[in-house]
Amino acid sequence: MRISMRRGRGHGRGRLWAGLLAIVLLAGCTASDDAIEGIEETDPDVSRSLEQLGFVIRFEQPSEADRGHAAFLHDRKVMEAASGRLNAFVGLDHQAFVVARSCGGEGSEYDPEAKRIVICYDQIGEERELFERAGDRPADDEVVAVLVETIYHEAAHHIIDTLHLSLTERAEEDAADQFAALLLLRQGADGERQLLMTVREYELSATQDDVTAGDNDRKDEHSPDLVRAANHLCYLYGSAPGRQRDPASERLLPPPRATGCANEWAQVRDAWMKNLAPILRKR
Ligand SMILES: [Zn+2]
Repeated sequence: MRISMRRGRGHGRGRLWAGLLAIVLLAGCTASDDAIEGIEETDPDVSRSLEQLGFVIRFEQPSEADRGHAAFLHDRKVMEAASGRLNAFVGLDHQAFVVARSCGGEGSEYDPEAKRIVICYDQIGEERELFERAGDRPADDEVVAVLVETIYHEAAHHIIDTLHLSLTERAEEDAADQFAALLLLRQGADGERQLLMTVREYELSATQDDVTAGDNDRKDEHSPDLVRAANHLCYLYGSAPGRQRDPASERLLPPPRATGCANEWAQVRDAWMKNLAPILRKR
């Protein structure tokens, strides 16, 4: 029985979750007196969706410290928009939950046993801090972009399981990033902008990891952050070969690789579309 978690973004350090079974959906199911305005444990749209197939969102009560982050997630309808786009793109014959919860510093991730994507309220604070420390403020749009990319990345793990694609850990992580890029690039200019914001996040995150190197005892199956940044940038330029490249991008994407990005992206996109064929929605 596989119980490994696939961690996504998030800057929490240390162990993977051990208490897999301790995760309780809709923790403390009664609507407490201190329920904050605008946040419900289950979105009203979701409570009508018990028969709904595909990606289904759930909101757990946030911890005291995460209330503001939870309100932001709710107000910006990040979960609704991302799951809506996923469900419009692929049709699952079962439910896969996308759960927002307080993770106590652990990163957002996919739990294959429960078919559950976990998006952490605390990630919102971490991402905001990362951008704001770099002078990007307000960082609302950036935070939304990273969350959306995270949801797509974690959803890709579920899809990879569903399709029984056989990949090594690293290849699966790279494929999940590629799926996230695919979903974002399908959205046109808004998605492209969001993909670019995630490139910046990976760059900032790489810098932060340099600073905090030494307390890093985690095992990370993902490609290094700068590689992930370069890959996303390559897909972005590769999807629009005529686009003028920002000279600053050469740091991440030197010309020898950049010239091959149109081909690289075409291969990535075609591979995913071929794999997705059995569950793609007809258009
Ligand atoms: Zn992953």
